[in-house]
Amino acid sequence: MSLRLPRVDRILDHPALASSPALRSIQKRLVNDILAELRRRALAGEISEAPEVEAIAREVERRLAEVMTPRPRALINATGVLLHTNLGRAPLSRAAVAAMTAAAGTCELEFEVETGRRGSRLTWLRPLLAALLGAEDVHVVNNGAAALLLACTAVGRPGGVVLSRGQMVEIGDGFRVAEMAAAGGAQVWEVGSTNRTHLADYAAGLAGELPGQSRGAAAILWVHLSNFSQAGFVHQPTLGELAALGRERGAPVVADLGSGSLGGIVGEEPTVQEYLSQGADLVTFSGDKLLGGPQAGLLAGSAALVGKCRRHPLARALRPDKTTVAALHATAIAYASGQADTLPLRRMMAWSEDQLRARAEALGQRLGWSSGQVRTSEATVGGGSLPGDVMVSVALAVPTADPAATATALRRAGVVGRVSAGELLLDLRTVAPEEEEALAAAVRAVAAGRKDMP
Ligand SMILES: *Cc1c(COP(=O)(O)O)cnc(C)c1O
Repeated sequence: MSLRLPRVDRILDHPALASSPALRSIQKRLVNDILAELRRRALAGEISEAPEVEAIAREVERRLAEVMTPRPRALINATGVLLHTNLGRAPLSRAAVAAMTAAAGTCELEFEVETGRRGSRLTWLRPLLAALLGAEDVHVVNNGAAALLLACTAVGRPGGVVLSRGQMVEIGDGFRVAEMAAAGGAQVWEVGSTNRTHLADYAAGLAGELPGQSRGAAAILWVHLSNFSQAGFVHQPTLGELAALGRERGAPVVADLGSGSLGGIVGEEPTVQEYLSQGADLVTFSGDKLLGGPQAGLLAGSAALVGKCRRHPLARALRPDKTTVAALHATAIAYASGQADTLPLRRMMAWSEDQLRARAEALGQRLGWSSGQVRTSEATVGGGSLPGDVMVSVALAVPTADPAATATALRRAGVVGRVSAGELLLDLRTVAPEEEEALAAAVRAVAAGRKDMP
């Protein structure tokens, strides 16, 4: 059924719309979006009458206010997921934020103050990261996927890379490591089966013996099973065995570690240093996962391979911006000076159950809730690291008759909790103590508007 919708001009001229020539084009676009939605809904039989011009104009105003608010807004992560990709992964340290602010204006990004000549944006960061990681050289791009893409494109051509079917990881939002590795033109040769891959499978790929191969593959790609694990009748050569095979055949091992731990954390996540010492020639990982820094992609390994990546044309397309370089440098300084425990991610990991319980009790009391609202909970690291690894945590169960509706109201007020077993939980492990006051204020504001909350 088709609707008799008002004309665009009539809506734009309605007095409910703030008139400003600058806003006119965005208002027009919003009107068109709304009219298109109404037509779709009419076709689907969801509505049979067009709304009043005034109602549409008010909806335009509401959407205008939304798009004219600077985003992303800050939120408090009370989900218990430490590295929540949708919430921006690792929160940055104060030093990293200060460094980003300092770099935001004009800065010595690629400039040598001493000589006044062109410099490199990684002049100071490179030796520091290389020393921390135990790598000959390090390069930085804008995220982990970019590091993988650059490594496979620069090192895996011609001939492509050999990858076990047991390591064909999908990392989230439908993105698959094998497809990202191939996006720059390097062929990915799948070998083995889902559960079992043998050294001979890799050897066949390097020798050019797989169906369709016209030459041997240039490299081995190893992908860390960052978000799942396999058990049962499984086999996978070790990284060390693959490195030995690669050396014998003159093919480097590119290892996508993803999570990028430098050690000193709970759980059994492999570290970059371990991967390198086991023989990986080039390790790629993210800056905003277990490293606890900004969104960035790091490539650590031999000088020859890192140099190949640095000089590849893609490197220019994938380079990190000045604020990223600044935040990553501040994060690296924290590690190098033995202050890694000051990084927000590491602080989240360090709380003991008793400390969290004390914080939860105090916060519950401040909100006037009974001590019966404190729950033992489970926090997870998230962000594609430590599959199945949970950390004991403590949460406050929000007293409400409608957890889902209260969760929505709290999100609008800037606090993201987690609904579990019919309760809305606010997990204290992912909340910094300095955020507690704002969290309490948001909860009070929501409670004031709901009859089902004390
Ligand atoms: C997270 C992850 C990536 C992608 O890193 P981004 O920083 O999200 O681009 C690639 N590979 C693995 C194994 C990962 O865990």
